[in-house]
Amino acid sequence: MTEGRILKELEIANVVRLYEGRAPGDAARDVAKPVAEMGWDALRDTVRACTACGLCRQRKQAVFGVGAESATWLFIGEGPGADEDELGEPFVGQAGKLLDSMLAAIGIKRGREVYIANVVKCRPPGNRTPTAEEAAACAPFLDRQIELVKPKIIVALGKTAATRLLDTEASLASLRGKVHGYKGTPVVVTYHPAYLLRSLPEKAKAWDDLVFARSTLAGAMPA
Ligand code: URA
Repeated sequence: MTEGRILKELEIANVVRLYEGRAPGDAARDVAKPVAEMGWDALRDTVRACTACGLCRQRKQAVFGVGAESATWLFIGEGPGADEDELGEPFVGQAGKLLDSMLAAIGIKRGREVYIANVVKCRPPGNRTPTAEEAAACAPFLDRQIELVKPKIIVALGKTAATRLLDTEASLASLRGKVHGYKGTPVVVTYHPAYLLRSLPEKAKAWDDLVFARSTLAGAMPA
């Protein structure tokens, strides 16, 4: 094993140990510092080994994120479902197909100028909404992904992502159509694709939101 590899293993082991037997919120605060200094490889390995909250007990695998590591667009969902848990990639089930066609509708593509991540990296049993504690335990990981990607715009897909990024309990309806901010990066809020699958009439609103995000991005980019 190279010295670099040993150091990396230690880094992961230490972060995982910081979580053991602690309330996820307390541990997340301690973990935030080492995680905030990680590069992609260490971050990915740490997420894969994470036992910070109960979600690790039933997962098949942690689902890290996918896409261009310095993407312009960052889409953030809630957490993996059964398909994602099986395949290890975010948004690969029915909701993912809809997300891909939403991206295509505004001329962008997963893996090219897009990165996709979730608030929690492990599947909540029965696809329930993650608890605030679970979101807090995963927060250092998502925060670091955002820092590493340095997107020009973030799209929050649904209430869980909006609540996590904007630290608000405001309704999704009241958050739509405005430019919010996360540490200086513009954030636009829209419906979660899984919700759109159940409420087809809202699809037109999601289209409006993505067009709004695209024009927000155009305004934020140097001419
Ligand atoms: N729903 C999400 O929020 N994320 C996924 O990765 C899949 C479904």
